[in-house]
Amino acid sequence: RTAIVLFTRDLRVHDHPALATSCAAFDRVVPTFVLDPALADRSPNRTRFLRQSLADLRENLRGLGGDLVLRQGDPVTETIRLAGEVGAEAIAVSADVSRYARRRERRLRAECERHRLHLRLFPGLTVVDPGALRPGGGEHYKVFSPYFRAWQGAQWRTALARPERIELPTGVPVGRLPALPAGASPDAAAGGETVARRRLRDWLPNLGGYGDQHDDLAADDTSRLSPYLRFGCLSPLEVVERVADRADPFVRQVCWRDFYYQAAAAFPDLDRTAFRAGVTEDWRYDTDALDAWTEGRTGVPIVDAGMRQLHAEGWMHNRARLITAGHLTKQLRLDWRAGLAVFGHWLLDGDVPNNSGNWQWVAGTGHDTRPYRGFNPIRQAHRYDPDGAYVRRWLPELAAIEGGAVHEPWRLPDAVRRTLDYPPPLPPPGPPPPWLR
Ligand code: FAD
Repeated sequence: RTAIVLFTRDLRVHDHPALATSCAAFDRVVPTFVLDPALADRSPNRTRFLRQSLADLRENLRGLGGDLVLRQGDPVTETIRLAGEVGAEAIAVSADVSRYARRRERRLRAECERHRLHLRLFPGLTVVDPGALRPGGGEHYKVFSPYFRAWQGAQWRTALARPERIELPTGVPVGRLPALPAGASPDAAAGGETVARRRLRDWLPNLGGYGDQHDDLAADDTSRLSPYLRFGCLSPLEVVERVADRADPFVRQVCWRDFYYQAAAAFPDLDRTAFRAGVTEDWRYDTDALDAWTEGRTGVPIVDAGMRQLHAEGWMHNRARLITAGHLTKQLRLDWRAGLAVFGHWLLDGDVPNNSGNWQWVAGTGHDTRPYRGFNPIRQAHRYDPDGAYVRRWLPELAAIEGGAVHEPWRLPDAVRRTLDYPPPLPPPGPPPPWLR
């Protein structure tokens, strides 16, 4: 008896419920990944990370006696075709929440019925399944704190060991890995479960300092696990299982990820429609301002530093994401969807639930009880980068300015300012709309 395990964004062998269960229940298992050309060019950073993660997954599967079968094309058509070729009777896949994933799942279900194949969906992309927790009288949690309380008190499954051995049917062509794309960030982290597990192991000793340090921009000692969670190189459950206390500040951050998954599951248009009912969206459409923001030349150093980090690493510190997104929406008053698209292009960890959920939160259109909060970038800069080291790291043109003065180059004496190859801040747009005041 043979089953196909269709990998999607769960590129690991440890704690992989679909893989572990299929290996226990079937004689032969065909681990498969189908590269959909429709998704290929969206983000060179993520395409590169995916390619590296697939190479690593293939190595890990080979180490267990199996392999990774790679196909290119429409995932549903290719998987059904492969099932015919290898005589599979079942297909196992991790359940996902995005529009794309749900459409794939619906089509796969219909095709499986037509071909008399058994389709089974498994958990694994989140700690707690989206939809498993519901507030009294509601469809999903709209506020984080009560969700976090319910989440901590919920029954979690236990992380699974990797399979001991994978038996592949003979004679299946395994296919070649896709080419590496051009245009990726020069200092982007490398993908793969092996790197991810090493990163987790090396970072965990820092956990004790996380609560106090994670907002310190220059210290830069958050886990940087987000791209690995994004591609499922790590199981989020396994990550939080390593921390004794479910109320730990780090575990709380991982819960935000689950929170936005359950939000996207209940509100699939999170990436294009304001979640908050009745909010008037009065955004400006100024391409020059958007370009300046995107390229890191708004003239506000802390904002530009964040954007330059994004280009260089395909990752940005969470505090810098809050500041840059706040600047786009609350000071420049540009549409959050424009910022979402820029982040979506560059971020290694960019995904629909977290990127959209966070953008909506900052823009005041989303899951937040204080939608009118603003982020004053200058105050934030002095608070979270008091010495200016983060700004100097990313803006070499300001590297000679010492201390916190680097946050406000417009306050420097004229003679000094004229020597800087750095623009003045973009002029503020007209008065804000009433809902932003
Ligand atoms: P750590 O501080 O070490 O946190 C551990 C893990 O918790 C992270 O890896 C992440 O999985 C999760 N996490 C932490 N903060 C958040 C949060 N606010 N929302 C959801 N999960 C969180 N995160 C993404 O994974 N993908 C995105 O596309 C994304 N877009 C964002 C857009 C904006 C405008 C903002 C403000 C935040 C966004 N975030 C996104 C959340 C957060 O910035 C990143 O998860 C975090 O910076 C990743 O770094 P880390 O792994 O070192 O985080």
